[in-house]
Amino acid sequence: MEPLGIAIIGCGPAGLAAALLLARQGHAVSVFDQFVSPGPVGSGLMIQPSGLAVLAELGLAAEVVARGARIDALQGIEEHGKTVLDAPYAALGVPHAFGLGIHRASLFDVLHEAALAEPRIAIHAGHAVTGSTCGAGGRRLLFEGREASAPFDLVVDASGWRTRFDPSPKNILPFGALWASLPLAPGDPFAGNLLEQRYRRASQMAGVLPIGMRSGGAGPEVAFFWSLKAEDYAAWEATPLDEWKAEVLRLWPALEGLLARIERREQLTFARYAHRSHPAPVGERMIAIGDAWHSASPQLGQGANMALLDAWSLARGLAEGRTLAEKLRLAAGWRSDHVWLYQWVTKLFTPLYQSESRYLPAIRDRLLAPLSRHWPARGIQAQLMSGLFGFPLAPLGLALPDYAGLSASLTIAAASGEPQS
Ligand SMILES: Cc1cc2nc3c(=O)[nH]c(=O)nc-3n(C[C@H](O)[C@H](O)[C@H](O)COP(=O)(O)OP(=O)(O)OC[C@H]3O[C@@H](n4cnc5c(N)ncnc54)[C@H](O)[C@@H]3O)c2cc1C
Repeated sequence: MEPLGIAIIGCGPAGLAAALLLARQGHAVSVFDQFVSPGPVGSGLMIQPSGLAVLAELGLAAEVVARGARIDALQGIEEHGKTVLDAPYAALGVPHAFGLGIHRASLFDVLHEAALAEPRIAIHAGHAVTGSTCGAGGRRLLFEGREASAPFDLVVDASGWRTRFDPSPKNILPFGALWASLPLAPGDPFAGNLLEQRYRRASQMAGVLPIGMRSGGAGPEVAFFWSLKAEDYAAWEATPLDEWKAEVLRLWPALEGLLARIERREQLTFARYAHRSHPAPVGERMIAIGDAWHSASPQLGQGANMALLDAWSLARGLAEGRTLAEKLRLAAGWRSDHVWLYQWVTKLFTPLYQSESRYLPAIRDRLLAPLSRHWPARGIQAQLMSGLFGFPLAPLGLALPDYAGLSASLTIAAASGEPQS
């Protein structure tokens, strides 16, 4: 394959994974990000078996696993104490399989450190991309307050859901969530190996996700989240913190110790979500991957995993296609069914957990919850959660990671939240 000059916009999971994969194929990669100094925004996320399969190919799975927390199941309990969501990874039927809760910064650090060590990758911070122009010599990037770049053979848009390269409406969802990363203390009443959620109908949701230990961190942490409608954010800001905590505790009293660790409002970040797909992810000398192509609410915990799969598919497309146009068509084509499927499933599921509806949570609790305990729904639920619904790995030539081997890399003991000796 002819080495190409490739520009990647964005240093998120999609951009960094693509940079590594493409540089290792021999391409010269320039990554541009608007941030002044490298760093991700936000709290925790889930790495699913689908995303871990890509990290394993990158040779980074063991390091990511070592920084995260093993998650064995997703558990949801409604306000009266009834379990309405019980989704264990064991139902996948893959020996030793697990999900991984991880701080965004830990995932970023592993990918970023690997990218810095790769001589064919140049990372340019402080470059906010405003657009691009395509001519005979290639595609140039336009920057805020800087001169345009030299021409590139290919531009990869990995700039997230706010991408400037998709002019269609962003469809920002009415519900977002407040997120905080908080220290896990000995004796905290969390299982340590569960993503736990509590619901009052679908209008209130609190969650706790163990996210392992950040590099240089004092100890294991959890991500705490609280569903909030964007239109209620100003009212939340005006409400005394203790009053808001009392409301959360009415839904989930066991959070008392954890909420006591929130002393300032600034510890909480309000995240918004957009449900959208780029109508044309492939253009002339250009392709969108990750959230720049498709984004959704994180209810199914797939975004970063889909981003990793997109990056892998792009590298494979570049290796296999004959012309650049064919390479890009292949890359998007291998992913399009899986993307379409998860966009629809997420659209259907999100209102069961985040909406004002009275009927949808009733359907969730009285119909879907009992159904999900039985074959084949239990296995389908596990596949959905794992990112494996629709069999996305086979067309990409990927296999599930070696979970038995990776288990040895876990550094946080599941049950206690204590580092293993
Ligand atoms: C609260 C929350 C919880 C989530 N939980 C999960 C989860 O559990 N599991 C999961 O898989 N996913 C989760 N997601 C989704 C996941 O975070 C995203 O899908 C994932 O980060 C997408 O990766 P990306 O690389 O495509 O984009 P991003 O991570 O958004 O990265 C985009 C990068 O592009 C840069 N950029 C943007 N615009 C420009 C510009 N104009 N010029 C230069 N640089 C630019 C940004 O600075 C950023 O570094 C969650 C999302 C949120 C908000």
